[in-house]
Amino acid sequence: MDFDVMGMHKSFLEDIAELLDSAEAEAAEGWSDEGDTRTLRNEDWTFLRKLGHAGWLGVGFPPEAGGQGRTATEELMFLEELSYRRLPPLGSGIKFVGPAIARAGSEEQRARYLPGLLAGTVRFSVAYTEPDAGSDLAALRLRGQRVDDRFVLNGQKTFCSGVQNCTHLWLAARTDPAAERHEGISLFIVPIETAGIAVQPIHTATEIRVNEVFFQDVVIPEASLVGAENRGWQIMMSSMDRERLEPVSGMARLVDEASDWARQPDPDGYAPACSEHVLAALGRLYAEVDVARLFAAQLAWMIDEGKRCVVETSMAKIINTELRQTVSTIILDLLGEAGQLRLDEIGAPLGGRAERAYRGSTWMKIAGGANEIHRDLIATRGLGLPRPRVIVTQAQRSH
Ligand SMILES: Cc1cc2nc3c(=O)[nH]c(=O)nc-3n(C[C@H](O)[C@H](O)[C@H](O)COP(=O)(O)OP(=O)(O)OC[C@H]3O[C@@H](n4cnc5c(N)ncnc54)[C@H](O)[C@@H]3O)c2cc1C
Repeated sequence: MDFDVMGMHKSFLEDIAELLDSAEAEAAEGWSDEGDTRTLRNEDWTFLRKLGHAGWLGVGFPPEAGGQGRTATEELMFLEELSYRRLPPLGSGIKFVGPAIARAGSEEQRARYLPGLLAGTVRFSVAYTEPDAGSDLAALRLRGQRVDDRFVLNGQKTFCSGVQNCTHLWLAARTDPAAERHEGISLFIVPIETAGIAVQPIHTATEIRVNEVFFQDVVIPEASLVGAENRGWQIMMSSMDRERLEPVSGMARLVDEASDWARQPDPDGYAPACSEHVLAALGRLYAEVDVARLFAAQLAWMIDEGKRCVVETSMAKIINTELRQTVSTIILDLLGEAGQLRLDEIGAPLGGRAERAYRGSTWMKIAGGANEIHRDLIATRGLGLPRPRVIVTQAQRSH
């Protein structure tokens, strides 16, 4: 791998800086880097539409799909810059629903959804998880029953983020209950306003709103089907590589700010950095952020080289999400009691961002596949160890 990434992409980096310098001034206040790519607020979308207008939402999209056709390395640089500046991230619709439509969607679907997606007017919420199908996603049961040239949806999804701001659901449904678990699943694009859909919010401790979504006799046309019927699993799994391209620079910024805080002397002239404990903690975090950044750069390079990186995407997911928890936990500890003050509360050190990042870090180890599942995957695919036995409970059997 060539580590002179910055040198190679100097003009690209300058372009990004110029774009964001001008767009940043108009961006919504209050975005905190919680690494949340899925719960964008209305005001974040205002900023993203501006990026879309300038042609930057499709930074990693192929040109034939209306994007810039940038490499994964360049896309990562762009995400890093957004994250360091605490600007809203692109969202999962852009990151992986769009590429999946570009790859597996019909001509009509590409023409219908991609321009809106890249302009920030079409917004997807991913509806995969169900109450009994999270880590074991292939257990999903929401029924998509074919009736002539339509499908009728019945069932429930849960933990869907961003439904409150989305225009469409990217939905996985079971279209052939008799087939093998991975074979009877299809993917659909469903407008959120379709009759028979009901949304129930779940407010989490992280302040992220997720949602339960209920489907009762929801009728959608055959044209909503993405790819071939019963082949949805393959599309779902193939869209994961770039989704894992997560920046770490939000954490780098928190470490930078904690270092600034540590330099500031109190009225007696004593700065936190005078303490060996503080120095050791910040030194550790600086090194860990750098390792994570290098790993993310390596993953992007592997994607660009067309290398198989199933194991590395799982590693990157674990490294990134655990880094967030380590950084925010240690900084919160250094800040003492005042660190618990929340975003923009008077007297909150680092503007309350360490506290926010701490709460925000908890869910990321679960969403996108729990880290334990990714560890299993690394062990089985990376080390070639046997797959763990799945224990099916009596309750699951009786479903
Ligand atoms: C904030 C948030 C946002 C989310 N957004 C979305 C979204 O937009 N769309 C969507 O479809 N889903 C979303 N999810 C759902 C997420 O993908 C699931 O929570 C995740 O896949 C885990 O599924 P589960 O919650 O059912 O946990 P379970 O599958 O019940 O697992 C519970 C715990 O058991 C452990 N575990 C389970 N199986 C194994 C195993 N085989 N080996 C070892 N350990 C195991 C894991 O540690 C896991 O943490 C979101 C979740 C959160 C928390």
